[in-house]
Amino acid sequence: MRVLAIGAHPDDLEFRIGGTLRLYAERGDDVFLVISTNGNIGSTRHKTKAEIAEIRRKEAHDAAEVMGAKELMWLNYNDEFIFDTEEARLRMIDCVRKARPDVMFAQPYLRDYNPDHDITGYLAFIARINAAIPLIKTDHPATEKIPPMFFWMPNGMSYSNFAPDHFVDITSVWKKKLEMARCHKSQYEDWGGDFFGYSLSKKIEAENRYFASQCGTPGVEFVEAFMNQRTFPMVAGAYKFLP
Ligand SMILES: [Zn+2]
Repeated sequence: MRVLAIGAHPDDLEFRIGGTLRLYAERGDDVFLVISTNGNIGSTRHKTKAEIAEIRRKEAHDAAEVMGAKELMWLNYNDEFIFDTEEARLRMIDCVRKARPDVMFAQPYLRDYNPDHDITGYLAFIARINAAIPLIKTDHPATEKIPPMFFWMPNGMSYSNFAPDHFVDITSVWKKKLEMARCHKSQYEDWGGDFFGYSLSKKIEAENRYFASQCGTPGVEFVEAFMNQRTFPMVAGAYKFLP
Protein backbone atom coordinates (compact mmCIF):
# COMPACT_ATOMS: atom_id res chain seq x y z
CA MET A 1 0.00 0.00 0.00
CA ARG A 2 1.09 3.60 -0.58
CA VAL A 3 0.59 6.08 2.24
CA LEU A 4 0.90 9.88 2.05
CA ALA A 5 1.07 12.10 5.13
CA ILE A 6 1.14 15.87 4.71
CA GLY A 7 2.13 18.17 7.56
CA ALA A 8 2.95 21.84 7.93
CA HIS A 9 6.08 21.72 10.08
CA PRO A 10 9.05 19.51 10.73
CA ASP A 11 7.81 17.46 13.75
CA ASP A 12 4.03 17.63 13.10
CA LEU A 13 3.97 14.22 11.42
CA GLU A 14 5.98 12.41 14.09
CA PHE A 15 4.29 14.00 17.10
CA ARG A 16 0.77 13.57 15.75
CA ILE A 17 0.81 10.30 13.77
CA GLY A 18 4.34 8.91 14.00
CA GLY A 19 3.06 5.66 15.50
CA THR A 20 0.54 5.02 12.74
CA LEU A 21 3.09 5.81 10.03
CA ARG A 22 5.62 3.50 11.66
CA LEU A 23 3.03 0.69 11.67
CA TYR A 24 2.60 1.07 7.92
CA ALA A 25 6.37 1.09 7.36
CA GLU A 26 6.87 -2.00 9.54
CA ARG A 27 4.47 -4.04 7.47
CA GLY A 28 6.20 -3.02 4.25
CA ASP A 29 3.97 -0.21 3.00
CA ASP A 30 5.53 2.76 1.19
CA VAL A 31 5.22 5.87 3.36
CA PHE A 32 5.60 9.26 1.68
CA LEU A 33 5.88 12.45 3.72
CA VAL A 34 5.30 16.08 2.76
CA ILE A 35 6.43 18.91 5.01
CA SER A 36 5.24 22.23 3.65
CA THR A 37 7.24 24.77 5.67
CA ASN A 38 10.84 24.88 6.81
CA GLY A 39 10.29 25.81 10.46
CA ASN A 40 12.64 28.76 10.09
CA ILE A 41 11.26 30.96 12.87
CA GLY A 42 10.53 28.36 15.56
CA SER A 43 13.43 29.10 17.87
CA THR A 44 14.31 31.28 20.81
CA ARG A 45 17.95 30.19 20.82
CA HIS A 46 19.15 30.35 17.23
CA LYS A 47 20.01 33.69 15.73
CA THR A 48 19.20 33.33 12.04
CA LYS A 49 16.31 31.82 10.12
CA ALA A 50 18.70 29.98 7.81
CA GLU A 51 20.39 28.33 10.78
CA ILE A 52 17.18 27.02 12.35
CA ALA A 53 15.76 25.93 8.95
CA GLU A 54 18.84 23.80 8.33
CA ILE A 55 18.57 22.19 11.78
CA ARG A 56 14.88 21.46 11.21
CA ARG A 57 15.50 19.92 7.79
CA LYS A 58 18.17 17.62 9.20
CA GLU A 59 16.00 16.62 12.18
CA ALA A 60 13.06 15.86 9.85
CA HIS A 61 15.21 13.58 7.70
CA ASP A 62 16.60 11.80 10.78
CA ALA A 63 13.06 11.21 12.07
CA ALA A 64 11.87 9.99 8.67
CA GLU A 65 14.67 7.45 8.71
CA VAL A 66 13.63 6.15 12.15
CA MET A 67 10.05 5.97 10.88
CA GLY A 68 11.14 3.97 7.85
CA ALA A 69 9.58 6.43 5.41
CA LYS A 70 10.32 5.96 1.72
CA GLU A 71 10.54 9.64 0.80
CA LEU A 72 10.30 13.06 2.40
CA MET A 73 9.13 15.92 0.17
CA TRP A 74 10.32 19.22 1.62
CA LEU A 75 8.38 22.15 0.15
CA ASN A 76 10.40 24.84 1.96
CA TYR A 77 7.73 27.53 2.39
CA ASN A 78 8.66 29.98 5.11
CA ASP A 79 7.32 29.11 8.56
CA GLU A 80 4.00 30.92 9.23
CA PHE A 81 3.83 32.11 5.62
CA ILE A 82 2.30 29.41 3.46
CA PHE A 83 -0.80 30.62 1.64
CA ASP A 84 -3.51 29.06 -0.48
CA THR A 85 -2.20 30.20 -3.87
CA GLU A 86 -2.34 28.63 -7.32
CA GLU A 87 1.37 27.86 -7.08
CA ALA A 88 0.99 26.16 -3.67
CA ARG A 89 -2.00 24.13 -4.90
CA LEU A 90 -0.09 22.92 -7.94
CA ARG A 91 2.92 21.93 -5.84
CA MET A 92 0.71 20.00 -3.43
CA ILE A 93 -1.12 18.32 -6.33
CA ASP A 94 2.22 17.25 -7.74
CA CYS A 95 3.21 15.74 -4.36
CA VAL A 96 0.02 13.64 -4.37
CA ARG A 97 0.72 12.56 -7.94
CA LYS A 98 4.27 11.60 -7.06
CA ALA A 99 3.16 9.51 -4.06
CA ARG A 100 0.01 8.10 -5.78
CA PRO A 101 -1.44 7.22 -2.37
CA ASP A 102 -4.00 4.59 -1.40
CA VAL A 103 -4.65 6.60 1.77
CA MET A 104 -3.85 10.16 2.85
CA PHE A 105 -3.38 11.92 6.19
CA ALA A 106 -3.37 15.64 6.90
CA GLN A 107 -4.04 18.30 9.49
CA PRO A 108 -7.67 19.29 10.00
CA TYR A 109 -8.33 22.87 8.93
CA LEU A 110 -10.43 23.88 11.92
CA ARG A 111 -9.11 27.36 12.66
CA ASP A 112 -6.10 25.97 14.43
CA TYR A 113 -3.84 28.31 16.41
CA ASN A 114 -1.25 28.02 13.65
CA PRO A 115 -2.21 29.19 10.13
CA ASP A 116 0.29 26.81 8.49
CA HIS A 117 -1.66 23.85 9.91
CA ASP A 118 -4.97 25.08 8.51
CA ILE A 119 -3.61 26.07 5.11
CA THR A 120 -1.50 22.94 4.63
CA GLY A 121 -4.44 20.75 5.64
CA TYR A 122 -6.69 22.62 3.21
CA LEU A 123 -4.14 22.36 0.39
CA ALA A 124 -3.89 18.61 1.03
CA PHE A 125 -7.67 18.30 1.02
CA ILE A 126 -7.89 20.10 -2.34
CA ALA A 127 -4.97 18.18 -3.84
CA ARG A 128 -6.54 14.83 -2.95
CA ILE A 129 -9.26 15.43 -5.56
CA ASN A 130 -7.48 17.73 -8.01
CA ALA A 131 -4.56 15.32 -8.45
CA ALA A 132 -6.96 13.05 -10.36
CA ILE A 133 -8.01 15.74 -12.85
CA PRO A 134 -5.90 15.29 -16.01
CA LEU A 135 -6.41 18.82 -17.35
CA ILE A 136 -4.60 20.20 -14.30
CA LYS A 137 -0.99 19.87 -15.45
CA THR A 138 2.02 19.32 -13.16
CA ASP A 139 5.28 17.37 -13.50
CA HIS A 140 3.63 14.01 -12.77
CA PRO A 141 0.60 12.42 -14.46
CA ALA A 142 -2.85 12.55 -12.89
CA THR A 143 -3.74 9.91 -10.30
CA GLU A 144 -6.23 7.17 -11.13
CA LYS A 145 -8.33 7.40 -7.97
CA ILE A 146 -9.32 9.66 -5.07
CA PRO A 147 -8.02 8.05 -1.87
CA PRO A 148 -9.64 8.12 1.58
CA MET A 149 -8.31 10.83 3.83
CA PHE A 150 -7.96 11.07 7.58
CA PHE A 151 -7.32 14.17 9.62
CA TRP A 152 -5.26 13.88 12.76
CA MET A 153 -5.77 15.32 16.19
CA PRO A 154 -4.80 19.00 16.31
CA ASN A 155 -2.67 20.45 19.04
CA GLY A 156 -5.28 21.79 21.46
CA MET A 157 -7.97 19.30 20.60
CA SER A 158 -10.09 20.02 23.65
CA TYR A 159 -11.02 23.48 22.37
CA SER A 160 -11.32 22.64 18.67
CA ASN A 161 -14.10 21.06 16.65
CA PHE A 162 -12.12 17.86 16.20
CA ALA A 163 -14.27 14.82 16.92
CA PRO A 164 -12.23 11.64 16.34
CA ASP A 165 -14.00 8.63 14.90
CA HIS A 166 -11.09 6.28 14.12
CA PHE A 167 -8.46 5.02 16.55
CA VAL A 168 -5.15 3.27 15.87
CA ASP A 169 -3.39 1.16 18.51
CA ILE A 170 0.26 2.27 18.50
CA THR A 171 1.30 0.41 21.67
CA SER A 172 3.74 -1.85 19.79
CA VAL A 173 5.57 1.12 18.25
CA TRP A 174 5.34 3.58 21.12
CA LYS A 175 9.10 3.48 21.81
CA LYS A 176 9.78 4.11 18.11
CA LYS A 177 7.44 7.08 18.19
CA LEU A 178 9.40 8.55 21.09
CA GLU A 179 12.63 7.89 19.22
CA MET A 180 11.25 9.77 16.19
CA ALA A 181 10.07 12.63 18.39
CA ARG A 182 13.49 12.87 20.00
CA CYS A 183 15.08 13.43 16.58
CA HIS A 184 13.42 16.85 16.78
CA LYS A 185 15.75 17.98 19.51
CA SER A 186 15.42 21.66 18.66
CA GLN A 187 11.64 21.40 19.06
CA TYR A 188 11.28 19.53 22.28
CA GLU A 189 13.99 21.47 24.13
CA ASP A 190 14.08 24.87 22.54
CA TRP A 191 10.67 25.61 21.07
CA GLY A 192 8.36 23.41 23.13
CA GLY A 193 10.24 24.05 26.36
CA ASP A 194 11.28 27.69 26.06
CA PHE A 195 8.35 29.11 24.12
CA PHE A 196 5.41 26.93 25.19
CA GLY A 197 6.73 25.72 28.52
CA TYR A 198 6.05 22.04 28.19
CA SER A 199 7.81 18.75 27.57
CA LEU A 200 6.80 17.51 24.13
CA SER A 201 7.48 13.87 24.96
CA LYS A 202 5.31 14.07 28.12
CA LYS A 203 2.62 15.84 26.14
CA ILE A 204 2.37 13.19 23.43
CA GLU A 205 2.48 10.45 26.05
CA ALA A 206 -0.45 12.07 27.88
CA GLU A 207 -2.40 12.48 24.63
CA ASN A 208 -1.81 8.96 23.33
CA ARG A 209 -2.61 7.44 26.74
CA TYR A 210 -5.77 9.54 26.94
CA PHE A 211 -7.09 8.11 23.67
CA ALA A 212 -6.23 4.60 24.81
CA SER A 213 -8.34 5.28 27.91
CA GLN A 214 -11.17 6.49 25.68
CA CYS A 215 -11.03 3.26 23.67
CA GLY A 216 -11.00 0.91 26.65
CA THR A 217 -9.50 -1.99 24.72
CA PRO A 218 -7.54 -4.50 26.85
CA GLY A 219 -3.79 -4.37 26.20
CA VAL A 220 -3.98 -1.07 24.36
CA GLU A 221 -1.86 1.58 26.11
CA PHE A 222 -1.24 4.17 23.39
CA VAL A 223 -3.62 5.32 20.67
CA GLU A 224 -3.56 7.94 17.89
CA ALA A 225 -6.95 9.42 17.00
CA PHE A 226 -8.28 10.38 13.56
CA MET A 227 -11.30 11.95 11.94
CA ASN A 228 -12.39 10.71 8.54
CA GLN A 229 -12.82 13.65 6.15
CA ARG A 230 -16.55 14.25 6.00
CA THR A 231 -17.17 15.80 2.60
CA PHE A 232 -17.98 14.42 -0.82
CA PRO A 233 -16.58 12.18 -2.18
CA MET A 234 -16.28 9.81 0.79
CA VAL A 235 -14.59 6.45 0.26
CA ALA A 236 -16.77 3.61 1.48
CA GLY A 237 -14.90 1.33 3.86
CA ALA A 238 -12.17 3.92 4.49
CA TYR A 239 -11.40 2.36 7.89
CA LYS A 240 -9.93 -0.67 6.10
CA PHE A 241 -7.01 1.50 5.02
CA LEU A 242 -5.85 2.10 8.61
CA PRO A 243 -3.21 -0.21 10.13
ZN1 LIG B 1 3.02 22.42 13.42
